[in-house]
Formats: sequence, C-alpha cells, structure tokens
Amino acid sequence: MKLAEDKSTVITGAASGIGRATAKVFAEHGANVVVADVDVDGGNETVEAIEDDGGTATFVETNVADQDDVQNMIDTAVEEYGGLDVLYNNAGIDGPHTEIAEYDVDGFDQVVDVNLKGVFLGMKYGISAMLEDGGGSIVSTSSIGGVNAVEGYSGYGATKAGVSLMTKTAAVEYADQGIRANAVAPGLVNTQMVQNIIEEEPEMEEEFLAYEPMDGFSDPREIANAVLFLTSDLASRVTGVTLPVEGGFLAS
Ligand code: NAD
Repeated sequence: MKLAEDKSTVITGAASGIGRATAKVFAEHGANVVVADVDVDGGNETVEAIEDDGGTATFVETNVADQDDVQNMIDTAVEEYGGLDVLYNNAGIDGPHTEIAEYDVDGFDQVVDVNLKGVFLGMKYGISAMLEDGGGSIVSTSSIGGVNAVEGYSGYGATKAGVSLMTKTAAVEYADQGIRANAVAPGLVNTQMVQNIIEEEPEMEEEFLAYEPMDGFSDPREIANAVLFLTSDLASRVTGVTLPVEGGFLAS
C-alpha cells in the first residue's frame, strides 16, 4: 500500500540523516518531494538517489531560519506539485554542548533560530498554503532531549520542547480546517549529528548506546516510517501528539 501517493511533500534537512531517509521513504510511497536544505551538494544527492529509484523530487536551497527562503520553499511545492499536502519540519542543529553557565550566547541564538524559529516559519507559510487547498498534515522533529533534561543540552532541549508545544498549538488552531500537526521524538539515531558528537567526545558513544532499552542506535528509516504513518490517512484522528520513536527510552 502506498501511503503518500501524489502528495506534494516538503522535507527540511533532507540533505542528510533522518530527512534524507524520510525523503526516500515518501518517494517510495508515491510522493512528489521538495528536498530543502542549506547543504546544496547533499540535497542534490538526495534528489539523485530518489530519481535513480524512479521517484520524483526537486531540491531547493533553504535556510529554515530565513523567512524569504521558507516562503520560497513552500511556493516551490505549490508551483511544481500543485499545492502542499505534507510538511516535515526536520532541519536541526545540536548547538553547544556545555552547562548553562558556560553556554555560548551566540550558540544559543543559533540553535533557537534553526530548531524553533525554523519550525515556526515552516508552519506559518506551510499552513497558509494548506488552507488554500483544503488542509494537509505537518510533522516536526522534536527529541527525547525535549522531554527529559540532558546535561549540556539546555538550548537544544528547550527548542525541542518548544517544537512539541508549537505542534500542539497548531493542532488545536487548525483542527477544524483539515490540518493535523504532530511531532516525532527520536532517541539516538545513527546520523551525521550523532557521529560528529562521538568524534569530538568518543566517551559519549557508550553513554548514547546505553540510552535506549532496545539494542544499538535507531536507523533513520525507523523515524521516517513514523513520519509517514503520522502524515497518512492511517493517523486521520491523530493530532497534537509527539510520538516517541526511541526504543523504549522514555518508558525506562
Ligand atoms: P543531520 O546532521 O544528519 O541532518 C541535519 C540536516 O539539517 C543537515 O542536512 C543540515 O544541512 C540541515 N540543516 C542544518 N541547519 C539548517 C538550516 N538552517 N536550514 C536548512 N537545513 C539545515 O542530523 P539528523 O540526526 O538527521 O537530524 C535531523 C533532525 O533530527 C534534527 O532536528 C535533530 O535535532 C533531530 N534529532 C536527531 C537525533 C539523532 O540522534 N540523530 C535525535 C533526536 C532528534
């Protein structure tokens, strides 16, 4: 069963990791995908991989913290694919890794700009486009770090908690206008973001691997499948939730 047939779908942070995996999964399920990212080479690689598999995708260079870029990203979906059915606000950065008293203020601004303002802008312009065309479905990437405190990640955690609350707000504001808004909260996913931390701080690998009761790190496709479910008609009555996809971390 194809769960995203002909759906015009925008995915941010789709040049790498969870976003790239989700772009591929949506294309496999029949979606027409706008791949949005600041990373031009990585974004084009995602598009090539989708096209090689017979799917449809286009790349739009986008800084999610920039209002004009986000408007252009949404306009591209409308112009190329006839509207906007699905928006996945996924682009994110981890920011500084230090306790609050040492936390760099510019680093704080940066993580808020990308992770929180980026999601706000995506929703602002994405919802406007969806309202023109009878509704749609939005998913944003939160984190277990937005549910429980992780030492050294105050800025990151605050943005991810903010993503979940903004998701609830969008859900209640637009529930009667055909728009659902949900989030996913991944645990530790095997992507560049996690590999970079482990390269800088090798002792973190063991700590990260101990987080989830299930063995190993999550695979990016495991997050992608949850996003597909949430945007699909299978989740037609699900809105305002943050779905943990974290091998049992929050249960333990
Ligand atoms: P990643 O580094 O592999 O991918 C992140 C992508 O976002 C990159 O392609 C990067 O170029 C892009 N990006 C960064 N800043 C951007 C901006 N301003 N505008 C547009 N694109 C931008 O990391 P990932 O693990 O795939 O992360 C995806 C999302 O998942 C992030 O929001 C992250 O916080 C979240 N997350 C990741 C994990 C994990 O364990 N990897 C856990 C929980 C949540």
